[in-house]
Amino acid sequence: MTKTNRREFLRATSLALATAWAGGGAGLAQQAPVSAGALGPALVGDLVAANRILADQGVLDAFGHVSARHDKNPERFVLSRSLAPALVTATDLIEYDLDGRGVNVKGRSEYSERFIHAEIYRARRDVNAVVHAHALSLIPFGVSTTPLRAIYHMAGFIGEGVPIFDIRASSGMTDMLVKDSNKGRALAQVLGNKPAVLMRGHGVAVVGPALPFAVGRSIYLELNARIQAQAMALGGAVTYLDPEEARKIMESGENRSYERAWELWKRKVMTK
Ligand SMILES: [Zn+2]
Repeated sequence: MTKTNRREFLRATSLALATAWAGGGAGLAQQAPVSAGALGPALVGDLVAANRILADQGVLDAFGHVSARHDKNPERFVLSRSLAPALVTATDLIEYDLDGRGVNVKGRSEYSERFIHAEIYRARRDVNAVVHAHALSLIPFGVSTTPLRAIYHMAGFIGEGVPIFDIRASSGMTDMLVKDSNKGRALAQVLGNKPAVLMRGHGVAVVGPALPFAVGRSIYLELNARIQAQAMALGGAVTYLDPEEARKIMESGENRSYERAWELWKRKVMTK
C-alpha cells in the first residue's frame, strides 16, 4: 500500500466508522425511550391483579394480555413480558411507548401483539386500560353475520353494538396477529369510540377508563356471548335490551363502577 493509498484507506475507514457510529447511536436511541418513572404502587397492584382475575374468570388462558396507561405519562403504558397472565408479578411489567418500544425490556421476550394496546392508547385519550383476549364464547360472533348484542343488564355498555375488525380489510393475508403499528392503528380505527371490538377469527379488544372497567367489561362481555348463544339455541325469538334500556343503565352508573366486583375478584386471586 502506497502512502497516499494508505491515507485514503484510513480516511475511508474512519468515515465508515463515523457513519456506523451515528447510525448505531440513532438506532440505540430509538430502541430505548426514556422512562416515565416508576408506576404508582396501587396501579402496579391492580395491574397484577387484573392479569390474574382475567385468568381466574376464564377470559384469558395462556394467551391474551391486559395493560394500563402509565399514571405519570399518558404517552406510556405498562404490560407484562410475554407470560401466561395467571403467573404475572410486579417484576414482569414492562413500560412501553406508543410505538410499542419497551423502556426496560432487558432482554425479556415481549407480547408480539402489544401494538393493540399502543395504538388504542394513541387513538383514545379516554382509555386507561386495555384487555386483549381470545375468549371462546366471543369467537363465533366475530365470524358470523349474527351480531353480538346486549342481552342482559350487566352488558348495557354494548348497547350501541360491537364492531368487528377483519384484519384482511387493512392487511390482506396475515398470520392474524396485530403485531405492528399499522395493524394496531387499523384495529383502533374500527374500535372507534366503542368499549370493545371483536377481531374476526381471533378474539376481542376491550377498553375502559380504568382497570376495573376494562376487566369487568371483558368478563361480562364473555358472559353475554354465552347467554346470547344459549338464548338463540332455544330456537324462539330473542328479546335483547332496547338501546334506550342500555342507555339508562349507563346513565345510572355502569355496574356500580365495578367496585364491589373488583374487591371480590381481587381478593380471590391475591390470597391464593
Ligand atoms: Zn391475540
